[in-house]
Amino acid sequence: MATVEIRGSGYSFALFVDGQPHGTGASSYEKACIKANYLERMLARVDRPCLCCGATFTAAGRNNRMCPACTDFAAGAMI
Ligand SMILES: [Zn+2]
Repeated sequence: MATVEIRGSGYSFALFVDGQPHGTGASSYEKACIKANYLERMLARVDRPCLCCGATFTAAGRNNRMCPACTDFAAGAMI
């Protein structure tokens, strides 16, 4: 798992992934946090097989185990 860091102060913040500079930076700590959160989610994405149908899909994170088609089907079944 890659480590995302926010470094900086005042009106200049930069993101680092595993110690390497990443992206264009941010003008406030809040904006840097939003970018870091998005970056962590993108880095956590991984191709894995769906638990229901076995099709390979790009999961949004560790808890995402069903492909979008099966997720939609399951949501419809609960109505
Ligand atoms: Zn599926």
